[in-house]
Amino acid sequence: MTKEKKKMSLAMQIFIALVLAIVAGLLMQKYADFAQSYIKPFGTIFLNLVKFIVVPIVLFSIMCGIISMRDIKKVGSIGLKTVVYYLCTTAFAITIGLIGGNLFKGLFPKVATTDLTYEAAEATSFMDTIVNIFPSNFVSPMVEANMLQIIVMALLLGFAIIMIGEEKNARVVNACNDLNDVFMKCMEMILKLSPIGVFCLLCPVIASNGPAIIGSLAMVLLAAYICYIVHAVVVYSIAVKAMGGLSPLEFFKGMLPAIMFAFSSASSVGTLPINMECVEKMGASKEVTSFVLPLGATINMDGTAIYQGVCAIFIAACYGIHLTLPQMLTIILTATLASIGTAGVPGAGMVMLAMVLTSVGLPVDGIALVAGVDRIFDMGRTTVNITGDASCCMIVSNMEKKKEARLKRS
Ligand code: ASP
Repeated sequence: MTKEKKKMSLAMQIFIALVLAIVAGLLMQKYADFAQSYIKPFGTIFLNLVKFIVVPIVLFSIMCGIISMRDIKKVGSIGLKTVVYYLCTTAFAITIGLIGGNLFKGLFPKVATTDLTYEAAEATSFMDTIVNIFPSNFVSPMVEANMLQIIVMALLLGFAIIMIGEEKNARVVNACNDLNDVFMKCMEMILKLSPIGVFCLLCPVIASNGPAIIGSLAMVLLAAYICYIVHAVVVYSIAVKAMGGLSPLEFFKGMLPAIMFAFSSASSVGTLPINMECVEKMGASKEVTSFVLPLGATINMDGTAIYQGVCAIFIAACYGIHLTLPQMLTIILTATLASIGTAGVPGAGMVMLAMVLTSVGLPVDGIALVAGVDRIFDMGRTTVNITGDASCCMIVSNMEKKKEARLKRS
């Protein structure tokens, strides 16, 4: 009971930090430079600590998740359900983004598109993207924090540990579980700092993106946020209710600490440990959580897909370009792939927007139109991203529990 109280208090602290950051940010608009130079660095220190710990957390929690299933078939069945759910919800998300963007199209302001410049990162081809998922070196994925490569490593190592048999793997299984506990403890320590981190990350954003800049882009921001909310409320509520055996209200209430953290940190990967705690409290099994959530924090980005759809329509409208149906379908495909390739760190989705725009021949320079307020888009899209991961976790966990109960009966 006392432990419960303590945990609640971290969520409360994050909430208070969030409110204080908004108030302080609004009051400090004239001192935005000060906020950027002296407050933001403390937020960066916090994010650095989170990034430092997240590589071992993803590696070990996926490995431990696989090992605890003890059976490659079971990993396959959970993995398949997870990936199918992730792909379907992402396709829904991008469709909602495109519909929302089209509904709002008439309200988007005509923004001057001359002398815009945006240096797009060099685009990698589709095949190269696939090739790059597979590491050619044991340490570089960890050094570069390349999450997709780390997942491949975790899968290979996890499968190998199962395959050498229970007689031989006892020590390594214990070692993995112990190391996992150690890294989780480190993460817990770092997360104690999250209220300070949240304040220092959010306050400069509010101070520099005062109402003036937001004003001119209000419509596209509004369109994105409405789509975020529609997707979360409609798609996740229905899914959780129908397949997760959980009332949507209970689900969103249980998710509050993770939602607040994601909103202020704009990092799915950083929110991973809080997200794990939230779903486990709601009854998800540890073995499913430790596999589904780290995977989702890396490949499942519904909010990012929505953002890419809305922004593609917005940028096309600013340039007076009309998008055809085949072009919209191309956007659905590329945004789904782009969101899989997006890293769970602040600002990554905007970089991937270049790939979506290029795929339908829209000017990449258009990104400059939305870059100024990207952080505000990012806070919402990250919140949707992690909520999607959690909904999948509740559903897969519920399905597995039912399956086990069926097997026991028969
Ligand atoms: N910040 C997002 C996340 O961590 C990724 C993005 O920029 O879209 O989920």
